[in-house]
Amino acid sequence: MNPIYLDNAATTQVDSAVMEAMLPYLTDLYGNPSSIHTIGQLARRAIEQTRNSIAKNIGAYPDELVFTSGGTESNNHAIQGAAFALRDRGNRIITSSVEHHSVLKTCHYLERRGFEIVYLSVDGNGLVDPDDVQRAINGRTILVSIMHANNEIGTIEPVEDIARITSEHGVLFHTDAVQSFGHVPIELHNPGIDLLSASAHKIHGPKGVGLLYIRRGTRIHPFIHGGKQEDGRRASTHNVPGIVGFGKSVSIAIEHIERIRRKITGLRDKLIQGIINHIREVRLNGHPSKRLPNNVHVSFRGVDGESLLLSLDMSGVACSTGSACSFATLEQSHVLQAIGLDEGMAIGSMRFSLGRFNSEDDIDRVLEILPGIVDRLRSVSSFHSNNQG
Ligand SMILES: *Cc1c(COP(=O)(O)O)cnc(C)c1O
Repeated sequence: MNPIYLDNAATTQVDSAVMEAMLPYLTDLYGNPSSIHTIGQLARRAIEQTRNSIAKNIGAYPDELVFTSGGTESNNHAIQGAAFALRDRGNRIITSSVEHHSVLKTCHYLERRGFEIVYLSVDGNGLVDPDDVQRAINGRTILVSIMHANNEIGTIEPVEDIARITSEHGVLFHTDAVQSFGHVPIELHNPGIDLLSASAHKIHGPKGVGLLYIRRGTRIHPFIHGGKQEDGRRASTHNVPGIVGFGKSVSIAIEHIERIRRKITGLRDKLIQGIINHIREVRLNGHPSKRLPNNVHVSFRGVDGESLLLSLDMSGVACSTGSACSFATLEQSHVLQAIGLDEGMAIGSMRFSLGRFNSEDDIDRVLEILPGIVDRLRSVSSFHSNNQG
């Protein structure tokens, strides 16, 4: 039996069309795009064509896109690049308590170097309140960084509203759009999104490549220092096959965005309804409607998420504990803490993240086996009996 892959928020299967687009650049077209000779220039042309194609697909100018090694680097680049470029204007950076670790730990790093970081809290659905952003901005504020969609609970943040506020105040706005890019349209030329991070491997492209959108006129410091690649904004020899594959994965995602969104949303809602109808003491986390089309994040009271994950894995279903924590480590997810989920629920959290290669049969199969596994784990869980007793 083929495994059922429901961990697309962690990474996705490379589309075969993406792999085929990459292959020539792993074989005959191996030149260095910075070289003058023909084989180098063929690689350069592939990169510039990809840049034009992605720019067109997302409503940006080609010179606004810098290719990076992925979402983590793009987030580091955006935040550190803005912080160090604007240090003489101020030192205050506003972010949220539910960001990806590549944002949060970059902020912690800057905090130890004299920057003042404001971590905005979120409501029970994981939403940042744009009014809180407005209130947190003062004369020393140089950057606001709020993710477009949360990688754990799938909540889509009101980035358009936040961008309007930051642009009114002349403050840079960065958004980590790694989870939403290619899934949920985003208006780049509406006011205010200055910096945006995306990654190929979350949209059926290869790992180790991503982009940072830098709005024209936004001057931030480079993050990787060295050669003159990417107009001096990001040194290191281009990952030519990766960039070409990224371009292909964006083309496919954008061309079919509405059809894929409808399909995945249908599967998502079927899975949510099936879980709620057939399992008691379960809760859907994240916003009920402002959520990624592919995210199902649920908590089962009295269940150890890690045991559930392992049982599902043995039954051929790959998903993720929704909390990166277990009885063993007791390390709580910062996102579940931020939405105020009690520990007993947080430990029993699972994230099922869907992709365009999933089928209705996959969902039927999960709904067939999940209630039995949850029942069995509840009956052996001392935690649950303690709670009841
Ligand atoms: C996966 C992810 C990242 C990191 O991207 P990489 O390309 O794996 O470095 C950053 N932010 C979010 C929200 C993500 O889901």
